Amino acid sequence: MIRECTLEDISDGRTYGLNDMVKADTGNCEGCFKCCTGMGTSIVLDPYDVCQIKAALNKSFQELLDQGYIELNMVDGLILPNLKMNSKNRCSFLSDEGRCTIHQYRPGMCRIFPLGRVYDGRGFKYFLQNNQCVKDNRAKIKVKKWIDAKCLGTNQEFVNCWHYFIRDIGEKITGFKKNNRSENINDIAMFILNSFYIPDIASEKLDSDEHIKELYELLLNRIDKAKKIIEDTFA
Ligand code: SF4
Ligand code: SF4
Repeated sequence: MIRECTLEDISDGRTYGLNDMVKADTGNCEGCFKCCTGMGTSIVLDPYDVCQIKAALNKSFQELLDQGYIELNMVDGLILPNLKMNSKNRCSFLSDEGRCTIHQYRPGMCRIFPLGRVYDGRGFKYFLQNNQCVKDNRAKIKVKKWIDAKCLGTNQEFVNCWHYFIRDIGEKITGFKKNNRSENINDIAMFILNSFYIPDIASEKLDSDEHIKELYELLLNRIDKAKKIIEDTFA
């Protein structure tokens, strides 16, 4: 989800690269699960997040929806999935003991918290979110160690490509709204769901660097193809 605000409003005012040290290390969170509670619809999932959850649980996209793990909502003009809160207003993947049951396969936004991403035109950096994590004596840690992303180079390329792909479609949708082209908006939203979320793109658990890199490359390829299709179909 794209937030329109200044960096100073929501952070210590600094941006961090992969090799910078940042006060983000919560240790093992020591029984806290505050940031897995009451997040509403804010943990929006990208296609990599969904692929790894589907592969880890051996469930289809429809099963994740039907069984209450995820839900669909409008985000910046598109219909995208987000983690669903349960009746206790907790993430559906949180155990009764307050631990993440998909820790190894948790979404990118959970993985980087309390960091966020700030996009500057055609790239991105990380920032430390203010007043979000309740642990106040966090240790310093290198950003790349904290985010713990496998195949880091390809991970960064995918995160960047997906963000700008979605942002550019959002701008297209704004244009369609101005011209009352609601059919185009629905078609584009369904095209994104059908191209990136509903198909079972990864058939195996993403446990090895080889499988993870393959999936990132496949998704990057799909983004390139989708850009062309959108360009040709929704001029
Ligand atoms: S997926 Fe895991 S880390 Fe993310 S909100 Fe749910 S329980 Fe918390
Ligand atoms: S609020 Fe901070 S300490 Fe608590 S679970 Fe989230 S990251 Fe961990």
